[in-house]
Amino acid sequence: MPPEIFFKDAALLALISDASIDFTPANFDAPLTDAQRAYLRRICGMDIPQVFWRKQVHGNDILEAAGGQASAKGCPDADAYVTAEKNLPIAIRTADCVPVFFFNPIRRVIGLAHAGWKGTYKAIAAKTVQKMQEKYASQPADLKIVLGPGIRECCYQVGEEFREYFPSHVRGRGGHLYADVVSANRDQLLKAGVRQENILDSRICTCCNNDYFSFRRDGEKAGRMISLMMLR
Ligand SMILES: [Zn+2]
Repeated sequence: MPPEIFFKDAALLALISDASIDFTPANFDAPLTDAQRAYLRRICGMDIPQVFWRKQVHGNDILEAAGGQASAKGCPDADAYVTAEKNLPIAIRTADCVPVFFFNPIRRVIGLAHAGWKGTYKAIAAKTVQKMQEKYASQPADLKIVLGPGIRECCYQVGEEFREYFPSHVRGRGGHLYADVVSANRDQLLKAGVRQENILDSRICTCCNNDYFSFRRDGEKAGRMISLMMLR
């Protein structure tokens, strides 16, 4: 998905890769592989040798990415990042979980969150809004958000326990329950003060679209997409 689809801001790079290349990292502190770099060069027209990323643990800790270089060596595990630093590419990996992109065009700050059902339950998206407010005086009403490709209600069959986790976002169909984690994130963001008109939903289900990796569809062999943001 080309970056311009997202925020239409020439000084912001924001993209998600597709199933043509796996971004599962071998080592979080190592540069990207030649194939990954070539893919990014083709998509965004610039060389990105390394990104700022950490092990994702389905938690809700948010890391302030900084350092003037892409290496996040020594940083703790985290499922979300925020930064005001230019030329620092932050990145998360997903294969069904929802990538949430945050951009405040007034304060010129960005954020990225990996919101699977656990992170959503732990309110990682709302916490990222708060973190951006605390760290950068970013007003929730000024934020522009993109909900990227993730597994949708069409495919996300879940167990009975999800009624408790997401009482407003689980529906029955054909004798099974399905969860809508994307809507749960959207509602969480609205409650946190984000404006409805500033939330763009990609509407892409990773599980029923073969252009994307899906853990539910492909199981353990599923690759990972990269969601990447960088202020220029
Ligand atoms: Zn689907």
